[in-house]
Amino acid sequence: MELFIEKDFVEKYKKGYPLLSSEYIKYKFKEEDEGKIVSLLDDKHKYVATAYLGKQNKGFGWVFSNNRRELFDNSFIKSLIRRAISLRQSFFNNSSTNAFRVFNGYGDGIGGLTIDYYAGFLLINWYNRGIFKFNKLIVQNLITELSPKGIYQKIRFKHSPDDIYENHLYGQSASESFYIIENDVKYCLNFDDGDMVGIFLDQREVRKMLTSKFSKNKTILNTFSYTGAFSLATLAGLSGKTTSVDLAKRSLPKTIANLEINEFKVEDQEIVVGDVFNFVKYALRKKLTYDLVILDPPSFAKSKKKSFSVLKNYADLLNSVAPLVGQNGYIIASTNNSKLSLLKFKKIILQGLKKSNRLYRIEKVFRLPADYRVADTYQEENYLKVLLIKLD
Ligand code: SAH
Repeated sequence: MELFIEKDFVEKYKKGYPLLSSEYIKYKFKEEDEGKIVSLLDDKHKYVATAYLGKQNKGFGWVFSNNRRELFDNSFIKSLIRRAISLRQSFFNNSSTNAFRVFNGYGDGIGGLTIDYYAGFLLINWYNRGIFKFNKLIVQNLITELSPKGIYQKIRFKHSPDDIYENHLYGQSASESFYIIENDVKYCLNFDDGDMVGIFLDQREVRKMLTSKFSKNKTILNTFSYTGAFSLATLAGLSGKTTSVDLAKRSLPKTIANLEINEFKVEDQEIVVGDVFNFVKYALRKKLTYDLVILDPPSFAKSKKKSFSVLKNYADLLNSVAPLVGQNGYIIASTNNSKLSLLKFKKIILQGLKKSNRLYRIEKVFRLPADYRVADTYQEENYLKVLLIKLD
């Protein structure tokens, strides 16, 4: 099958842009196209690239080969998986961390597919039905190349509730008390509880900084805390007291389990199940202050009364938490919104903190760690921005 790139965008694909988008390629995607291999041609019918088709958000497929008519077959998939593994040898050889990303979508050559390594287990995320059609080949190659203890999967494309997909694909099941270690801190995981497993591996370097920087008797407010991972990292640096706030009820038992497995005293830490915005109001009323306030909201969130969007509400959130930060204290402001550039995020921070009349300095900017490989030609996958901000 052949598809034609619109004249104005031929150069874009020649330079390595990988996402098939109806803005650049006129084609009406059909259900039966999932997993088909197509050649992209320019307006003069000359070959430009080869792609597989798969509907994913605004795209309908991913280029996997430029300038060469590659087959999407066993040897091609094997070579990409082998390359991805060899690029991560330092992660496999690290004795204090045993969880990282082995394969990061187009950054490793196949858009729509990520594979994480968790203490001998693998978790595959399939982001479209097209790549899922190749699941047997991909799983087989993972088994031969990595000999995992077990393999799990998450189906991240829309499907009818009648379609049942197994979570567990191969080998052993992870036990109920399964955990990974990261910089010698333990984190409990569960592969059978929705799309999130208990930890976000992309924040590894932020957690590492927290352990070394916020040591000894610091107070930390960890908002949108989920399983309390950031709290754990600061406690590993012997910080005094953490307050973790999350709306989801599951966050309480999960945070307790994480504290217990690391032998941190649960009763010394505060875990609040509730709305961050309400907690902030309460803390302002009580004139509470912290050495560090962590803000890691989801890009979009809805609670009972209001919704939060990074673009519309982050500045206000920063403005409202600024009085909670003690003198010479810090804020960590994080966003995983890929549509927000670092520059734009910095502007939002300026806007939020300007109103608070506190002088501030951005001490450090974290982007994705090395295992989250991103192609130069597709910076859209370079979503993470985390800023360490010092307030006067
Ligand atoms: N910081 C976490 C990840 C946060 S994920 C970590 O490093 O692991 C986002 C979390 O925000 C989810 O657990 C969700 O339950 C929570 N959340 C969303 N809206 C919220 C709100 N209004 N108040 C408190 N928590 C909220």
